[in-house]
Amino acid sequence: MSEPGRPHIVIVGGGQAAAQACQSLRQFGFAGGITLIGDEPDLPYQRPPLSKAYLKGEVAAERLTLKPAEWYAHNDIALKLGVRATEINRANRSLSLSDGETLSYDALILATGARVRRLPVPGANLSNVFYLRTRADVDAIRGALDAPKRVVLIGAGFIGLEAAASCRQAGHDVVVLEAAPRVLARVTSPELSAFYETQHSARGVEIRTSVNVAEIEGGGRTVSAVRLETGETLSGDIVIIGVGIEPNMELATAAQLQCEQGILVGGDARTSDPRIFAIGDCASRPLELCARQGPLESVHNAIEQAKQAASLLCGRPRPRYECPWFWSDQFDLKLQIAGLSYDYDDVVAKSGDDKSFTVFYFRHGDLIAVDAVNAAPHFLFTKKALEAGARISKDIIAAEDFDARAAMKALKPVLGSSIQNWR
Ligand code: FAD
Repeated sequence: MSEPGRPHIVIVGGGQAAAQACQSLRQFGFAGGITLIGDEPDLPYQRPPLSKAYLKGEVAAERLTLKPAEWYAHNDIALKLGVRATEINRANRSLSLSDGETLSYDALILATGARVRRLPVPGANLSNVFYLRTRADVDAIRGALDAPKRVVLIGAGFIGLEAAASCRQAGHDVVVLEAAPRVLARVTSPELSAFYETQHSARGVEIRTSVNVAEIEGGGRTVSAVRLETGETLSGDIVIIGVGIEPNMELATAAQLQCEQGILVGGDARTSDPRIFAIGDCASRPLELCARQGPLESVHNAIEQAKQAASLLCGRPRPRYECPWFWSDQFDLKLQIAGLSYDYDDVVAKSGDDKSFTVFYFRHGDLIAVDAVNAAPHFLFTKKALEAGARISKDIIAAEDFDARAAMKALKPVLGSSIQNWR
């Protein structure tokens, strides 16, 4: 906590980014006070298993926890859980909390994450209509899936499809409703969307694209069906909505920090106030690979930005550049993504067996990203090439005999040389 003469860093948020910030600050030698404020009652925990193993009941709640309580005590980190930060006063560098306390800070790290986007249709507040963001959300879903049910998933992004796969594997009937003409439309290419539509259908998930939900109908207080805008009605016992997230940036906007699609930060995670940082899902950051600014909703991003903030606060050089990466597990399909495919103008798709599929993305002839399903060498090659700043042309990847393992070995001298020479 704040002690006279001892610098104090306050971290708002109790998720992946906040936990990593605690760890990196201590690892990089920060000896002052650290206080973490989180409005969920739990210790910081990882969210990825929520739509995967935890939804299927394959991991216990304790296994989600990133660090045990003793770790925070041992590292002299004060935890205030179940408490919300309500206002930043930048003039006197203080933070008001929902329990009435006011904390002063020398530096403030906003790691407030994101919240689910609500679906504005009648019936969305019936019981047995769920969103999927927190552990409590999934505990409630699991409670409703106590016997074989018909599950209607609204939204075919990564979380919707992961939840669909988990529910199907647990023996439920599953239908996925998507407004766009294809699944994963916001995040990937038509080639990968088609692959996932085929894979889900083959495993018994009914996928309906280009459909808009008009109403969730209830028999009494619980769900009985979902009515589409066409008038068609689909029966269902429970509805899970996954239609995207919105950054939690109200604290920042009220404090007049610059915000646009998230709290605006530079490559050092600093906001428009040099004493305030924003990291993880709440931040809008430079996306170096595609010369844009925007959010990156991933574990890797939360960890990388936490390290950037901690480095600056501890007077260390900025950490080396890391290529953005992400994963998604659905059935026995492990998708690994490296790079950012924004503004791609060409692709090369490669199929392995029926469960392995890769799409490489190019802009102006150069490799910029990959989506690799059960194809780890393709993922690793692309990640290493992008981190090294190597230019990989389409011809190399498109060649029939392209071998990612061999190509990775050939990349080694490049990795050792200056990135600038390869840009
Ligand atoms: P969060 O984890 O959202 O944590 C923010 C915390 O701050 C929350 O607890 C919030 O309640 C709290 N908070 C907000 N405002 C306040 C306030 N004013 N005061 C106090 N506390 C506050 N990423 C991958 O890379 N791979 C995956 O496979 C993957 N799967 C996912 C599956 C699911 C179901 C979900 C939900 C996410 C998944 N992600 C995945 C994304 C990844 O989990 C997030 O990018 C990551 O958790 C972001 O961490 P964060 O700390 O920025 O935000």
